Amino acid sequence: MSPLATFIKSLNLQWQDLIDLLLLSLIFYRLLILIKGTRTISMLLGFSLLLALYVLSLALQLDATLLLLDNLANSLVLVVVVLFQADIRNALAQFGLFTMFRDPRAKQQTIVDMVLQACETMVRRRIGALIVFEREVGLRNHTDRGTTLNAEVSEPLLLSLFAPTSPLHDGAVVLNPKGVLVAARCILPVSMNTRLSEDLGTRHRAAVGVTEESDAVVLVVSEERREISLCFRGSILRNQGRQLRPLVLDLLSGKLSELPETEKLVNEDEPAASVFPEDAETSASIQANPAAS
Ligand code: ATP
Ligand code: MG
Repeated sequence: MSPLATFIKSLNLQWQDLIDLLLLSLIFYRLLILIKGTRTISMLLGFSLLLALYVLSLALQLDATLLLLDNLANSLVLVVVVLFQADIRNALAQFGLFTMFRDPRAKQQTIVDMVLQACETMVRRRIGALIVFEREVGLRNHTDRGTTLNAEVSEPLLLSLFAPTSPLHDGAVVLNPKGVLVAARCILPVSMNTRLSEDLGTRHRAAVGVTEESDAVVLVVSEERREISLCFRGSILRNQGRQLRPLVLDLLSGKLSELPETEKLVNEDEPAASVFPEDAETSASIQANPAAS
């Protein structure tokens, strides 16, 4: 018998232990995904520091420090619950029964359609926009510094948020996985990727930047070039016209794990392709009415 097999046999593992291990790994994996990219990581580091200080005081017999840390430890459970209440609520909701019945695809389609419709209108009106669909990786470290809205997303809401006269038009809006518009005016990390086309400014680089550090799906409307771009996993796909809707839906549902083609350059002389070609009539009426644009 090989040493590995002997070792495994000596562990005397039963099938319950395997289930135990599997569940523990799953719980830790989900917890890590939940806290990745949030302030929780730095708080956990703070706790580890306190723990290290406790061990040190114990070893060096620093009585006063020990007394203080001992007292702190007594109320630690309370402190943890208060500090992490949002994360605990989030984690319970993620683990809970309710998420087994994920939001129906129909609702996601409605939200994507509303967002794309708003993007189309903004393209026509030459309004820039940056819309982030948050997925598994939390973006709270960016939304916390933006303006909290927690509003139901709608086309008029997006149009009024990104209107140049709106106090919230700068930065990005973030939609959570349930389609709730969590925050506006969020500043995202700007990508330093030198392979990105030089005509892409900070809005597009911020769109790519956030997808380099998360699994978010991002839509950018360019006010300069009148095009809609899609960013995912550090890549950008520009001016996809009718392909855009299925691409966004497939990325959000996880059917697609990467963009089909990266950094697709657009012909500047060509008018931007429409996402909803059947809307040609509405588009014409909006263009014909300068008051609306
Ligand atoms: P456009 O094609 O629309 O001109 P662009 O990629 O050329 O976009 P800029 O012209 O630099 O980019 O766009 C500036 C706007 O982008 C800012 O007004 C702001 O709303 C947004 N923006 C810039 N940097 C960030 C950032 N780090 N995070 C979020 N939004 C940003
Ligand atoms: Mg620009």
